[in-house]
Amino acid sequence: MQKLETLNGFTKRKSVEVKVGKVGIGGANPVRVQSMTNTDTADVKGTVAQIKELADAGSELVRFTVEKDSMAQAVPAIRKQLVDEGYEDTALIGDFHYNGHILLTKFPSLADSLDKLRINPGNVGFGEKHDANFDAFVKIAIDHHKPVRIGVNGGSLDQQLLKKLIDDDMTKPSLEQIGANQVFLEAMIQSGLLSTQRALDLGMRKDQIIISTKMSGVQEMVYCYSKLAKLTDQPLHLGLTEAGMGDKGIIGSTAALSLLLNQGIGDTIRVSLTPEPGAPRSREVRLSQQVLQSLGLRFFLPQVTACPGCGRTTSVTFQELAKEVTEYLAMQMPKWKSQGYEGVESMHVAVMGCIVNGPGEAKDANIGISLPGSGENPAAPVFEDGKLVKTLQGPGMKNDFKQMVQAYVEKKYGKNKAFVSPAR
Ligand code: SF4
Repeated sequence: MQKLETLNGFTKRKSVEVKVGKVGIGGANPVRVQSMTNTDTADVKGTVAQIKELADAGSELVRFTVEKDSMAQAVPAIRKQLVDEGYEDTALIGDFHYNGHILLTKFPSLADSLDKLRINPGNVGFGEKHDANFDAFVKIAIDHHKPVRIGVNGGSLDQQLLKKLIDDDMTKPSLEQIGANQVFLEAMIQSGLLSTQRALDLGMRKDQIIISTKMSGVQEMVYCYSKLAKLTDQPLHLGLTEAGMGDKGIIGSTAALSLLLNQGIGDTIRVSLTPEPGAPRSREVRLSQQVLQSLGLRFFLPQVTACPGCGRTTSVTFQELAKEVTEYLAMQMPKWKSQGYEGVESMHVAVMGCIVNGPGEAKDANIGISLPGSGENPAAPVFEDGKLVKTLQGPGMKNDFKQMVQAYVEKKYGKNKAFVSPAR
């Protein structure tokens, strides 16, 4: 169960629970991690492989594009193969733009094979067709008992609504006008709220609607979600859309998600990172998990506290050990999980560079090592639950420490736990 109180005193915003397949979103559920494929959905084999990669990394929901007949026809086969291979718990989401109502009507088994349908109110047609297409889409979702995400996006905002709000603003006395930028943000929020109300009027239940107002600017996105959170109790899907590549994408997403999550806002998240060519798609899943774990909202993988090193660390031993331990924990985690090692995901390991902060951090971790800095006795004390248990030295130190980590995990989290130490 997710902690409802954060250390800074904020409480998680109350929201309605929406069931997406077997995954609960909102209510008392933890903040869910989701991701999106970048395969051609018509390629069943490739799409199934990537969904499995994302699910194996911990994505509880996976979305994929459905934009043409061949993709719509592939979805039942994708679903069947995933169920046959034991991935029935992963919620599948169809991402529709422009022609969702047509595809869902033409291929009735499409909706049945999905757990949620994403509709973008900015991409359902113009003029009279806008409302008719939106209504047709929502009615199909109702008939097939499927929840929807009303996914507003800054890059495809409903232009009719935006124009109306701009016109309304222009008719106000000049001192009361809020200006084009502010109107744009209000239109994002209104698009989500008005579309939600329209879906409710059509007969959709409150526990079938999730809202998002994704944008590519951190401050703008935070503004929209913060305001939206006060105006609705529908669950909110957070994401900085088109976050970009590398450091920019990671830091922008982290900043935006953290500012909101730390106020208790957000029921499911996606990091929309542009992957490096050849990089695994699942990186976005690990980043979402890291954001949630850094904020103490959920735990996925044991964490390593390591200092940055300085003039006191004259060799690369310390950096190598920090890297090796981090990789070792990631490699072992699936095994520990499959062996039912409960709680190991919240374990805290410290790898520190010298006596200045080393023993303090190492004692504070579940298991920690303080390597010798320059001029120190070449010995590395290891602490378990605050107590000095061994001093390592010599060329085998790195392997010795990893073996101690494995032994600690078995002792503390294994089926035959030898002891239960105080919770950290
Ligand atoms: S713990 Fe020691 S080596 Fe690490 S940054 Fe601090 S002073 Fe430098």
